[in-house]
Amino acid sequence: MLDTLLAFAARGLTQASWGTWIAYTLVVTQLTIFSVTLYLHRSQTHRGVDFHPVLAHFFRFWSWLTTGMVTKEWVAIHRKHHAKVETEEDPHSPQIYGIRKVFWEGVELYRDASHRRDDMEKYGRGTPDDWIERHVYSANPYLGPTLMVLIDLALFGAVGGVIWAIQMLWIPFWAAGFVNGIGHWWGYRNFESADTSTNVSPWGVWIGGEELHNNHHAFPSSAKFALRKWEVDIGWGAIRLFEMLHLATVLRVAPTLDLRPNMHLPDGDTVKALLAHRFHVMSDYFRGVIMPTLREDAANAVGGVKALPRKLRRALGNGGRWLDASSRERMNAFTQDHPKFATVCEFRARLAALIDSGVRGAAQGLQARGRAGVSARTDRTKEPASRALFLPSVRRSPRRSRRPAVAPLGTPARGATPRRLRPPS
Ligand SMILES: [Zn+2]
Ligand SMILES: [Zn+2]
Repeated sequence: MLDTLLAFAARGLTQASWGTWIAYTLVVTQLTIFSVTLYLHRSQTHRGVDFHPVLAHFFRFWSWLTTGMVTKEWVAIHRKHHAKVETEEDPHSPQIYGIRKVFWEGVELYRDASHRRDDMEKYGRGTPDDWIERHVYSANPYLGPTLMVLIDLALFGAVGGVIWAIQMLWIPFWAAGFVNGIGHWWGYRNFESADTSTNVSPWGVWIGGEELHNNHHAFPSSAKFALRKWEVDIGWGAIRLFEMLHLATVLRVAPTLDLRPNMHLPDGDTVKALLAHRFHVMSDYFRGVIMPTLREDAANAVGGVKALPRKLRRALGNGGRWLDASSRERMNAFTQDHPKFATVCEFRARLAALIDSGVRGAAQGLQARGRAGVSARTDRTKEPASRALFLPSVRRSPRRSRRPAVAPLGTPARGATPRRLRPPS
């Protein structure tokens, strides 16, 4: 009897070996990642994908069981992050709080944000409010993790306690710390979005695509986060699998970009496409104009691009928006000493102002300049990111294009006039 009890305490009902412990831990933590990225994030927050009610409820149950997080709170805090990004009101901006605090104390920031009940009501609209939500999930958020520890202890004995601790740390570390912190601090940027978001791919590939955070900020309502051929989004792979099993319906993905060369005057569609792809346009200006100018400068003059530290070179892509005063002063001094470079920076500022001025202003400005333009071709339901972010209504998606989500600039003309693309308000 005593031996049986000791064996149970040591290794639980399963009497499993370390191989089973590792496999179990990987499966349950990955399920939690999927519950967060697929259900809480892509479906509930941004309405990029709908799941079959049974699957949606499984994700909801699993996130309660393994994280204790309330759907409405998670959604509200994340929507507010997008709406107020990099401002004092952003719940977890490294620009405001510092990377150390967001990385190590992201859970505290999340908890503080969840106490702001006005925000929860304002940004948490449309989340589940049924009987089980009111009486079980929201009413008893700690009951889920409590049940989970009992299950782990029963299955694996003392080792189950260790597995449970890993489960409880998984989301605080990878979501609150890694994505919210590192995803706004270190990595590469495909799009010059109006924030500091970065892609940490491929280093965080197991966090379900959330590591492609810059892509996500550029097109928040897209159910697919990977936008380059070599980027991997395992969350999107799971969505495609569920779609094949008729358990998921994709509602929005990022618009594709086609170029139409030899245009003498841009038309209305060009202007709409310019606004939909504004972050792409700005990043392409940085790569295609600013950086070549800097390199030319470096080749021809002493004190060229190499005189600038990497941080400042990268800041040129956004006009030095996130620099502190002394770094900005240094960048301005460099610009003044290099007139050619100053000219391309001036044109960057004009382009940014043109885009910011909105559809009508952009149309007038572009027509006056008579530049060749770009057009967008869409697949599925296409909404410019800023419109679709909080759009509660859904539109059924048309058949999916086999073309990549974003074609590189320089793609040959397709000739197709974009449809269903509306300008942001
Ligand atoms: Zn972010
Ligand atoms: Zn988001």
